[in-house]
Amino acid sequence: MQNDVISYFLSLVAIDSESRDERRMIDTLKADLEALDCTVEEDDCHHKTGGNAGNLHAIFPGSIQKPPILFCSHVDTVTPGKGIKAQIVGDKIVSDGTTVLGSDDKSGIAEIMVALHRVKQSGKAHAPVEILFTISEEIGLLGAKGFDKSKLKSALGYALDTHRVGELVLGAPSQNSFKATFHGKEAHAGVEPEKGLNAIRIASEAIAAMPLGRIDFETTCNVGIIQGGEATNIVPNKVTIKGEARSHNPQKLERICNDIRTAIQSTVARYEAQGARVDFNCVQEYKSFSVAEDAPVVQLAVAALRKLDIPFTTGKGGGGSDANILTANGIPIIITGTGMDKVHTVNECIELDQLRLGTDFVEELIYGYSEL
Ligand SMILES: [Zn+2]
Repeated sequence: MQNDVISYFLSLVAIDSESRDERRMIDTLKADLEALDCTVEEDDCHHKTGGNAGNLHAIFPGSIQKPPILFCSHVDTVTPGKGIKAQIVGDKIVSDGTTVLGSDDKSGIAEIMVALHRVKQSGKAHAPVEILFTISEEIGLLGAKGFDKSKLKSALGYALDTHRVGELVLGAPSQNSFKATFHGKEAHAGVEPEKGLNAIRIASEAIAAMPLGRIDFETTCNVGIIQGGEATNIVPNKVTIKGEARSHNPQKLERICNDIRTAIQSTVARYEAQGARVDFNCVQEYKSFSVAEDAPVVQLAVAALRKLDIPFTTGKGGGGSDANILTANGIPIIITGTGMDKVHTVNECIELDQLRLGTDFVEELIYGYSEL
């Protein structure tokens, strides 16, 4: 592997790895981790998720006897992510404008790998480092969900998966997703509409009765998909809606999901005599997590950033990531910035300096942890 973070990052984004198609990335990283004397294991999580490669779990051995420090990043990218042609323009790396760049999350991977390389080259004493590269994060945290968390040995950890280096995300909301299929009655819309029961109308009334948007400072709710109907001359008999709710507060999340259920059931009840019914389900996608500002995992990061003279911020995030799944197993993990910018768009980019600073940060975390 290249020891320069810019060239290594460029080599990683040149490897296609949209979700469920991570084989080449996993093979490359496995070889690179082995070259760093790591013990590496790929799991078979993809047999459950339908992809072509498993999660990669590695231990970079250390001369100081203590539990390892964990770094994790995901290897998959969103679409359009095939045939990424990265280019350096000024002080940034960008795509050619037809695909994402893949700095989400290959900037994290590059910073971890190059930091390990530097630590190895230095010959300095250090604690062991645990590395987890997950698959299919972008399609519902599938890799982290399928990974056997009892394998994790670390005392604390960092998920490198947010924006500026120095950004520390200490918590993220719980998310539930819901789906409702409304059943009405089909009829010819021009000949005998009175024999029909319009499922689109019932779904619309139910949606209008739902609490949506920003509910409060820590709670949101959205209907994002509506599907149904066959033709303008048919009274539709079936409509499906899909949505989600998030909150940092589990009780509020439960309340909002109950409100959604009530909006749906009370609407359908008004049409029950005409034959309306609904199939509704609501499932938990992931649990919230929250790490205290004075927790060692945060203090270690703050000390490293101060030492490197990198400005830092602490706060809570609005999205789910592998940290939601991995912290549920008891290891305190926070999400840290890598420099990725405008992610999930074809304008995605990263500053060259951010990649360098992100690598310094990981290296400093390893030494800082080793001295604790
Ligand atoms: Zn990401």
